[in-house]
Amino acid sequence: CFLTEGFHSKRTVSGAYIVKQDMKKGTCDVAIVGAGVIGTSTALSLARLGYSVTILDKNKGPGAGSTSYSSGIVRSFYSILDSVKLSWEGYQYWKNWEEFIGSKEAPGGLVKLREPGGVILRTINSSRFLDKCVPLMRSIGIPVYEWDYQTCIANLGKVGWDVSKCYKPLRIDHSDFGLPISGVQPEGAVFAPNTGYISDPMLAVQNMKYAAESVRTNGNKNANFLFGRQVVEINQKNGKVCGVALADGDYISCNVVLNAAGPYSAQLNNLAFLDSNINDMKFETRPLRQEVAYCNGPEGIDMDKDGFISIDLDTGCYFRPEVGNKLLIGGLEAECDPEEWVDGDIDSNLNESLTETWTNLVYRAALRFPNLPIPTGKGTQGIVSLYDVTPDWAPIYDKSSLEGYYMAIGTSGNQFKMAGPVGDLMATIIDKCENGHDHDKDPVKYEMKMSRPGDYIDTGKFSRLRDLNNTSQSVMG
Ligand SMILES: Cc1cc2nc3c(=O)[nH]c(=O)nc-3n(C[C@H](O)[C@H](O)[C@H](O)COP(=O)(O)OP(=O)(O)OC[C@H]3O[C@@H](n4cnc5c(N)ncnc54)[C@H](O)[C@@H]3O)c2cc1C
Repeated sequence: CFLTEGFHSKRTVSGAYIVKQDMKKGTCDVAIVGAGVIGTSTALSLARLGYSVTILDKNKGPGAGSTSYSSGIVRSFYSILDSVKLSWEGYQYWKNWEEFIGSKEAPGGLVKLREPGGVILRTINSSRFLDKCVPLMRSIGIPVYEWDYQTCIANLGKVGWDVSKCYKPLRIDHSDFGLPISGVQPEGAVFAPNTGYISDPMLAVQNMKYAAESVRTNGNKNANFLFGRQVVEINQKNGKVCGVALADGDYISCNVVLNAAGPYSAQLNNLAFLDSNINDMKFETRPLRQEVAYCNGPEGIDMDKDGFISIDLDTGCYFRPEVGNKLLIGGLEAECDPEEWVDGDIDSNLNESLTETWTNLVYRAALRFPNLPIPTGKGTQGIVSLYDVTPDWAPIYDKSSLEGYYMAIGTSGNQFKMAGPVGDLMATIIDKCENGHDHDKDPVKYEMKMSRPGDYIDTGKFSRLRDLNNTSQSVMG
């Protein structure tokens, strides 16, 4: 990307923006809005395909948006086949990170997948989800084992779990909170050893940025990152994208724009589709507020060494060990929990303080970990962030009805793990469509190059035009 003086953009009667001499101008093949894990991974793949890419982010550095708050869990428990496939492909990227980044080192070091394995107790609350995802996982060769009740006691009891009870997820002020469902116990559990987490999601994005910036054509970088730059217009000419305008008055001309704006994706779509009749999306994306709690692990337990990742549908929480002998606790959109949509001006309307949502997470986790020290006062640790949610909690990885405008959005709190192949998939879709392929008629078949060469992911499942997928309707996907 290079900058020259002399352009500004002006809205026409039809709503499209045209470019006028008066601004600083840059040029590239593809402008990516958002340097989170999705935008940066796509930048890397496009750069490797030989495209010149400019990545714009209003934040100060890579991965500083919702990615920085990600729990970073890498699992393959999903309720539709193509998500199971994409997650399994994503796992290979984390496992072979050096190879993917193309370097043994990077500023700040390379992230490393920690792999404690993932456990889901088999209870009346989880059996429907497990009955869907376990056969799908097995169908593509993902190792997954059934533990009987005694094995659960042996493996989980020693790391502080109480596996003797089943619960209905309830708010802690409910009169029945803490009462087990009488007469039932978990039947056992499902264990998937290839389940892990990335403790520093922002560093993962920095690694990808480093790799993208290393790709050169004739000595010039193929990928250029610009931070502190907000995209305020998507410019169009003759029904096609022709550039983006920035809040500081600069303009970048390009033939392709990718919306990788995370929870701001709907706002960016509003800039692209000034006339909403042109937008043929069957559904929208919407930001949903989340809190995640960080606690010290139960006393006497080495969470780092012995802890598991778990989805616990009885308490409505997910858990994972966190470095420093901590337990990270997030929510699973249990029916009892109010959904906290953040509409309008996201930055003004998001309550960034921890609330009773945090308290609910911690007290509910304590049903499963009876010796969990409940933090108080300054010991209260957690984060507030946003998911970018679609109605079926599956992402949109697609072109759009505006020529040259693409979307990698609606990641619904569950796409960090997929970021490696998603970048490659988006680069493939962009490359094919820009070379005349009709992705709507014939959705690109994306090969699972790393995990199952010769097997393909149906990207139509992530289309903006799809019939909604039959999923868990929650972050579990
Ligand atoms: C609390 C939490 C826990 C999660 N846990 C997991 C997990 O355990 N496992 C998993 O797989 N996934 C998880 N996820 C989901 C995963 O982290 C996200 O799907 C992923 O990080 C989204 O990345 P992104 O690049 O799309 O968005 P972001 O990281 O939000 O990046 C979007 C970027 O776009 C920029 N931007 C927006 N609008 C503009 C504009 N107009 N101009 C310039 N820049 C703009 C923003 O500044 C931002 O940096 C979690 C998410 C959250 C919030």
